Amino acid sequence: MRIIMLGAPGAGKGTQAKKIAEKYGIPHISTGDIFRANIKNGTELGKKAKTYMDQGLLVPDELTCDLVVDRIQKDDAQKGYVLDGFPRTIPQAECLTDALNKLGSKIDFAIDVDVPDENIVNRMSGRRACLKCGATYHVVFAAPKTEGVCDACGDHLVLRDDDKPETVQKRLDVYHEQTQPLIDYYNGQGVLKSVDGTQKLEDVFQAVVAILGE
Ligand code: ADP
Ligand code: ADP
Ligand code: ZN
Repeated sequence: MRIIMLGAPGAGKGTQAKKIAEKYGIPHISTGDIFRANIKNGTELGKKAKTYMDQGLLVPDELTCDLVVDRIQKDDAQKGYVLDGFPRTIPQAECLTDALNKLGSKIDFAIDVDVPDENIVNRMSGRRACLKCGATYHVVFAAPKTEGVCDACGDHLVLRDDDKPETVQKRLDVYHEQTQPLIDYYNGQGVLKSVDGTQKLEDVFQAVVAILGE
């Protein structure tokens, strides 16, 4: 099963993608996590990506597409994958479609997690991230067992630099301008499904499972 998660920053794509990956036994591929791991490790890619991410801007398409096209050809992705945070622009989507055509493969579902802008700022200001293992929490809606500590790996949790309110509005603008058109793009491919992302985390997941099948 090959799945794309669509939706605004903070809509809950990552949260749902992790649950999908676990239930269906496919890898969760998050370009944001890949960039953050590169920043943490001080790689060239990380240095380039950071300058864009800190401003709430998208990393240039030419730095993202090859990365994902390589990743989906690894052994663990042969039975499928869930892409989270990619594609984010029409050129990225076209790059992916071309690559999949060449591989004789295709996307089965593009799931739009729909959340209005008003709800997003709360989600982002309460989000806490583990930069070591990629786990995500929320101080109110998905609190870790011990405040500030990752349940999964014990590392300390942080408020991402780009989750500060001044950057969140910029990211929402970028989303509406560059990413939202993908909803029409995947609707045109006949694979678009929408879920109401304002529901409780577990209810959103039930809606997702209703789409993907038990
Ligand atoms: P969120 O889950 O809140 O939407 P992500 O972790 O997906 O955030 O992305 C964080 C940042 O990483 C983005 O604001 C952008 O700068 C960069 N990024 C992630 N994925 C992509 C992509 N496919 N294309 C361009 N930039 C990306
Ligand atoms: P995205 O990957 O789309 O940027 P995340 O999955 O990281 O979004 O979720 C953003 C924040 O909102 C996180 O702190 C997460 O714990 C929280 N969150 C996710 N889904 C829900 C939900 N259905 N209700 C309330 N909070 C949620
Ligand atoms: Zn962790």
